Order: sequence, then structure tokens, then C-alpha cells
Amino acid sequence: MAEFTMELNDEQKEVRDWLHGFAADVIRPAAAEWDEREETPWPVIQEAAKVGIYSLDFYAQQYFDPTGLGIPMAMEELFWGDAGIALSIVGTGLAAVGVLANGTEEQIGTWIPQMYGDANDVKVAAFCSSEPDAGSDVASMRTRAVYDEAKDEWVLNGTKTWATNGGIANVHVVVAVVDPELGSKGHASFIVPPGTPGLSQGQKFKKHGIRASHTAEVILDNVRVPGSCLLGGKEKLDERLARAREKARQGGERVKNAAMATFEASRPAVGAMAVGTARAAYEVALDYATTREQFGRPIVDNQGVAFQLADMRTSIDAARLLVWRASWMAINGKPFTAAEGSMSKLFASETAKKVTAQAIQILGGNGYTREYPVERMHRDAAIYTIFEGTSEIQRLVIARTLAGVPIR
Ligand SMILES: Cc1cc2nc3c(=O)[nH]c(=O)nc-3n(C[C@H](O)[C@H](O)[C@H](O)COP(=O)(O)OP(=O)(O)OC[C@H]3O[C@@H](n4cnc5c(N)ncnc54)[C@H](O)[C@@H]3O)c2cc1C
Repeated sequence: MAEFTMELNDEQKEVRDWLHGFAADVIRPAAAEWDEREETPWPVIQEAAKVGIYSLDFYAQQYFDPTGLGIPMAMEELFWGDAGIALSIVGTGLAAVGVLANGTEEQIGTWIPQMYGDANDVKVAAFCSSEPDAGSDVASMRTRAVYDEAKDEWVLNGTKTWATNGGIANVHVVVAVVDPELGSKGHASFIVPPGTPGLSQGQKFKKHGIRASHTAEVILDNVRVPGSCLLGGKEKLDERLARAREKARQGGERVKNAAMATFEASRPAVGAMAVGTARAAYEVALDYATTREQFGRPIVDNQGVAFQLADMRTSIDAARLLVWRASWMAINGKPFTAAEGSMSKLFASETAKKVTAQAIQILGGNGYTREYPVERMHRDAAIYTIFEGTSEIQRLVIARTLAGVPIR
């Protein structure tokens, strides 16, 4: 286990500065344009691929940083640049993690390279779990996967929604029901390869924020995929379903399941994105407050403004510490006995919403216009309390964990 320290090591500082440079020189200058266009910023993703930021190798390196800080540090810097563009760069990672977590070595080797493409021909991937009637309540998912034994194929039918990169992805990872009797334990994940007939994009959403990130419905109409596209394989699925049926017969599982532990480990990354956006808005506000003069002095000379900045910075630092703690716990295999991952996501996302609103207030009329970036940052920040589990769901998870009752 790495020794505890509050300081980044030299290697981490080097990576952080390199990412910050990319965020400042490439992402931030493009932010307003892609927000207005509401389109995937392919040229920026391509730039990221050229320098090695858009690749599985990069994320794997950060993930295996023994302190656990590699991923949160990377997320904070990229999202400091711009949340919409950064999500376009890291969104493929959601699908890649789905394959890494559940796939066989062969599936990982086959599909992950096709998710990213290469610097000359970048591709993106989508992770499709949410449905119109299954958001927070994942167990009520309806998309069905039925096995056609004669052809060794799975047939997928249903409608997915809110899929980041949905419909424009080269590879879609789709979660579907294989045994409706088992609730969320009867779900399995499937690869839908490029060009598979029956998969189409539904509505593309026009959003409040993170508008450079593509979000859409994905329609699955008799989509047939080979048996080899079931992540983990049929044998493992059959064993898992048999265990779940046996537990259901014994009166249900009373312990926190493995999926919950996975969420606890991944939520700090979303918290880190929120810290990046909050820090960006705070920096703009601090700079403005020290240069804008009213009543013959910089507005920061008024306690009403200065104290807001003090609170903003304090909350951001507290959020980062919660994120770092949870990330350190995850890499060191510490049990999340107080749902520390959810805590970090809850506090950081609420902080981003509040701090970006305070930044608008400090910039006055300018803050309310698109001439300055804080109104965009405020629109972007609203996503953090919604996706990857809403703030209410984080509170529910924390409270039930503390009370020692099952999450569901
Ligand atoms: C921009 C964007 C990108 C996304 N990307 C993806 C993606 O790539 N893949 C994917 O699968 N999904 C994605 N999502 C979906 C996202 O995870 C869901 O929107 C989220 O889980 C909430 O589900 P919902 O929108 O159906 O809200 P609902 O679950 O309907 O919730 C509505 C409100 O009710 C509250 N609520 C619900 N249940 C409870 C409860 N038990 N107690 C208290 N309050 C409750 C919620 O907190 C919320 O305030 C994305 C969403 C957005 C907006």
C-alpha cells in the first residue's frame, strides 16, 4: 500500500501539468464553439488521440497509479478545460470499463481497440443502460435479450435512452434482461458490433449543458448478435443466474452486492469532473473580482464578494479531498463502509452547482452572458447531480449503508 501523503509525486505532477496544458491550449479555446454547435468535437478528440490522451493505455496507466489519484487528477484537469468536450473524450471509457469489468480476455482484445479507433480514424463507444422507464430504478429495465440456441445468437429488443455517444458509436455496449424474474441480477451486457442491422439512433437530445457531448436514444429492433458478444460468455452467465435463482429461493440477498461496490469505486471519478468545473468557474470569478472596480475599488475589497470566494475555494478543496479519499480507498481495496464513493460524488456535484452559480453572481451582468464562460460552466455543472446516480440516490445509498440496511 502506498504511504499516505498529501503531495503529488513528481510523475503525477508531470502528468497533471501535461493534461492541464492540453486543457488550456486545446480544450478551453474550443469550448464555446462546440457548446453552440451542440455536436461531437471530432477534431478535438482527434488531437487528444494524437497526443495519447484518447486511448485505453492512457486511462489504464492512470487507473493503476498505486495512490489511486491518477484518474481523479486526469478528470479534474480535462473537465477544467470544458465539461462537454471532456465528456466527449472520456465517454468511451464508460463502455470500455463495461467490457473490462465483464468481458473475457478475447472480448477485451477484440472490442476495446474498435471503441477508440486510432489517431487517423477516431471512433467512440456508448454504454447503454438507462431506459425511458428505468433511470434510477435500474431493476425495472425492459430491454430483452433472448438466446436463439439454433443459431448461437442473442436477439435484443428495446429502447435505451440518454446514451452518451448513442447511435454515433462504433461499438455499443447494451445491458439487457436475460431473466425477468431476477430483477437487476437477471441482467447481462452485450456488445453490438459496428453496422449491426436493427440498431438505430432515436431522438438526439438538445441539452441544457455539456452540449458538445452527444446524448441520444438507441433503438434495438430485433438486433441479432453472435453468442460471442455476450460479455463474459454463456457458461459464466448460466452459473451466475443459477446462483441468483438459488439465493432468490432462499429469500433474497441481504448483503450489499458487487455492483454496488463497483459504483462506489467509479463515482469518485464523476466527483473529480465536478471539481474540475467548479475550479474553473472559481478561477474566473477570482480573477474578475480582483480586476473589476466599482465604487473606486476592486469588488473583492467588499467582504460580501470576498467571503463568497473564500467559501467557494473551501468547498472545492473539501470536495477534492473526499474524491481523493474515495479513490485511494478503491485502489487499496478498502471497504466503503460509509459509502465514501457516493459521499464524494454527492458533495462534489452539489459544490459544482453552487460554485458555478456564485461565479455568475460575482461577474454580475457579464456572468449572465455567453461572452464569459461561467454561464456555460453553470449549465454544465447541473449534469453532475443527475448522471451516474442522482444526488437523491447518493443520499439514499449513504443513508442505507450507514443504517446497515440493503441498498435495494
Ligand atoms: C447528459 C446525460 C448523459 C447520460 N449518459 C448516460 C449513458 O451514457 N448511459 C446510460 O445508461 N445512462 C446515461 N444517462 C442517464 C442517467 O444516468 C439518468 O438520467 C439518471 O440515472 C437518472 O435517471 P432518470 O433521468 O430516469 O431520472 P429518475 O430516476 O426518473 O429520477 C427523477 C427524480 O426523482 C428522484 N428519485 C428517483 N428515485 C428516488 C428515490 N428512491 N428517492 C428519492 N428520489 C428519487 C431522482 O433523484 C430525480 O430527482 C445520462 C443522462 C444524461 C442527462
